[in-house]
Amino acid sequence: MNARTFRRFLIYLCCGVLSIACAEPDPESRSVEPTGTTQATVGTAREANATFSAQRAFAILEKQCEFGPRPPGSPAHRETQNYLFTELQKYANNVALQPLEYTVGTKTLHLNNILAEFVPGTLPVTGKGETGETLLLAAHWDTRPIADHDPKPENREIPILGANDGASGVAILLELARVFKAHPPPRRIVIVLFDGEDYGRTADDMFIGSRFFARNLGKWKPDYGILLDMVGDKDLTLPIEANSWNANQAFTAAIWNRAAALGLAPFQQRLGPAIMDDHVPLIKVGIPMVDIIDFDYPYWHTIEDTVDKCSPKSLEVVATLVISIVYDGL
Ligand SMILES: [Zn+2]
Repeated sequence: MNARTFRRFLIYLCCGVLSIACAEPDPESRSVEPTGTTQATVGTAREANATFSAQRAFAILEKQCEFGPRPPGSPAHRETQNYLFTELQKYANNVALQPLEYTVGTKTLHLNNILAEFVPGTLPVTGKGETGETLLLAAHWDTRPIADHDPKPENREIPILGANDGASGVAILLELARVFKAHPPPRRIVIVLFDGEDYGRTADDMFIGSRFFARNLGKWKPDYGILLDMVGDKDLTLPIEANSWNANQAFTAAIWNRAAALGLAPFQQRLGPAIMDDHVPLIKVGIPMVDIIDFDYPYWHTIEDTVDKCSPKSLEVVATLVISIVYDGL
């Protein structure tokens, strides 16, 4: 898919906002028509939680790892892109690639952000969705080409498998895509899977896809968003990420307060470290974003970031929070 197709997708997003703003609300009815003439019922958080399968999400994590390490330019990177694109097409109203080229030294990388849109269709919708609110759900699908934090020096030029660093966030979002199809959310959801997050040796050549996405938003902008990164660790610990907090305290507090209200123990009501991640370029263009990340992960950027370090339960905990925000709003 080319840039023109993506532009058309973004135009479509904007048009969707208009159609919602113009429609007649009818609080008695909870039906929407997301595609064609098929009537679909607006889903609830309860239904979504019942449909979300931690085992399926974990299988998606495993599937990505079966492709092998997925750094840009590798055959596994291309195969994973095809897999994610094809899967999202089963569930979303619209799926598009956002291609970009990026040069590092003498090497030109061909990267693709993958976007999937879920529209509530015609009114009535509930909550803030009535005004065309859009929630962005993000993760990165590439993996790091070098295990530069491996304890063994001989491993530090080997690509990582990225079971947690990459695959975990994508796994949750892909399983949620299936849930959104079954139970349409009452607000517009855009899933974006960023490419090139973990590429460079330094931060200068990281977050490549999210920077490009932020630069090319044009007139359309999501209202707020949630980034998932390293959320599959068996020993899940999720303090408040400091860059999120410093940029938008009320929004960030609302997310962590919701986790507390839901009794999700891994979310800790304390401030953790500031992490440079894909949320930062989006915050810089004015989008409130939280980064849900467990940075206390001993296998970070090592060849030990493998499936056995992750658990379905962790994916479920994070999905429960995301479902609550998607269906019940802030
Ligand atoms: Zn990483």
